[in-house]
Amino acid sequence: MYLILLGAPGAGKGTQAAFLSKEMKLAHIASGDLFRKNAQQGTRLGLLAKTYMDKGALVPNDITISMILERLKEPDTGEGIMLDGFPRNIEQAEALNKALAETGRDIDKVVYLKVPEEELLQRLGGRWICEKCQTPFHEVTARPRVPGKCDKCGGRLYQRDDDKPETIKKRLQEYFRQTQPLIDYYSKRDKLLEIDGGGRTPEGVWVLLKTALNPPLKKGEKMSF
Ligand code: AMP
Repeated sequence: MYLILLGAPGAGKGTQAAFLSKEMKLAHIASGDLFRKNAQQGTRLGLLAKTYMDKGALVPNDITISMILERLKEPDTGEGIMLDGFPRNIEQAEALNKALAETGRDIDKVVYLKVPEEELLQRLGGRWICEKCQTPFHEVTARPRVPGKCDKCGGRLYQRDDDKPETIKKRLQEYFRQTQPLIDYYSKRDKLLEIDGGGRTPEGVWVLLKTALNPPLKKGEKMSF
């Protein structure tokens, strides 16, 4: 199964990806995590990407596309992949189609997690992430048992530089300008599964997502949950 998770920053892509990973054997490929890992390791790619990330801007397409296409060549992608944060615009989507087609593969479904903008702002403002396992927590809705420590692995929790208020607004603007057209793009190709991710717990969204992934899409049909 080749899946794409679409949704604004804070829509819950990372959390649903973790549920999906448990349920299906899919390689989770998150472009933002790959950039952050590179930045922490101080690679050239990472330091360059950080200059864009800190401003809430997208990293240029050529850099992003080559990083993802390299990752797609790794052996763990054979049984399926779950792309999170990529593609973010039409040029990236076209590059992905081409690369998959060259190896006889295609995207099966595109899951769009739809969350109202007000809720996104609130979620991103209080978000804390585990520096070891990337599990997200929230000051209000998902507090860790021990303040500052991850419930799963005990790792230190930190607030991402780009989760600061001014950067959050820019990231959302960028998302709506560049990524929104992808929703039409995949809808026209009968791939889109739209999930209402607003006002629900992560587990509630997961139930919807799991149900939606089960029935096969018929031609011309767009599902809403
Ligand atoms: P995310 O963790 O998905 O919110 O991504 C964090 C940041 O990484 C974004 O604000 C961008 O600067 C960069 N980034 C992640 N994915 C992409 C992508 N597909 N294209 C360009 N920039 C990206």
